[in-house]
Amino acid sequence: MLKGKTALVTGSTSGIGLGIAKALAQQGANIVLNGFGDTEGPQAEIAALGVKVAYHGADMSKASEIEAMMKFAADTFGRVDILVNNAGIQHVARIEDFPVERWDSIIAINLTSAFHATRLALPAMKEANWGRIINVASVHGLVASAEKSAYVAAKHGVVGLTKVTALENATSGITCNAICPGWVLTPLVQKQVDAKAVAMGLSNEEAKKLLLGEKEPSMQFTTPEELGALAVFFCSPAAINVRGVAWNMDGGWAAQ
Ligand code: NAD
Repeated sequence: MLKGKTALVTGSTSGIGLGIAKALAQQGANIVLNGFGDTEGPQAEIAALGVKVAYHGADMSKASEIEAMMKFAADTFGRVDILVNNAGIQHVARIEDFPVERWDSIIAINLTSAFHATRLALPAMKEANWGRIINVASVHGLVASAEKSAYVAAKHGVVGLTKVTALENATSGITCNAICPGWVLTPLVQKQVDAKAVAMGLSNEEAKKLLLGEKEPSMQFTTPEELGALAVFFCSPAAINVRGVAWNMDGGWAAQ
């Protein structure tokens, strides 16, 4: 379905971003990966799906590096047709204890980077009159939890940015939508499981159950594969009139 298209997924060396990149590659899209840590393994996984893959190590907290990444993607594959703004970090602390530099990093990586990548992707999408912008927000783009001020503020911002992007392009072939996962067992969440296990003297399994029980009625983690399938739907012709939604995959979290 996506043969000949190019998808750039930020923060795709791990977790949800890698899951979405793989799902888009399975539909034939060429992929530009981004993120830190092991970059060779994810590139090999994508290449094994029979598409072209490239990697750019832009730090998503830096506008100049995002500009370099977007230029690299256009130079390598001609154009970015599908932009997935996924890179994100977390920090958990009460507002009065929240380190100021962590606040700044979370707003920069989780919110401002999506603005930069979007503004830089739109001109070529407009020229082609086709584009898909998918913002990985969170259920925390819709509801809050204590001790996550920067994350909740950034993710509510991402949902707002999604709506504005959708509206400004509503009569074109460019759509913009947000995905709002509940708990997904990636390194970002495993850190929170570990912290709970240490704080409460629990096993890994007990801490996971507690985490799910606090928020997610289904008592199941959403998987990167399920989120990838939703991203593929947003890219399909059937989703042409899905514009500006914030779509939960949260096991009923926000329904409560
Ligand atoms: P993860 O830690 O597995 O992956 C994060 C990715 O972002 C990695 O590839 C990492 O290298 C990259 N990254 C981090 N800082 C970066 C920077 N400055 N520049 C470039 N890349 C950077 O986390 P994940 O759980 O897969 O999270 C991905 C997205 O999904 C985030 O936006 C997160 O907020 C969101 N999300 C996660 C969950 C969850 O339960 N895991 C739930 C809702 C939303």
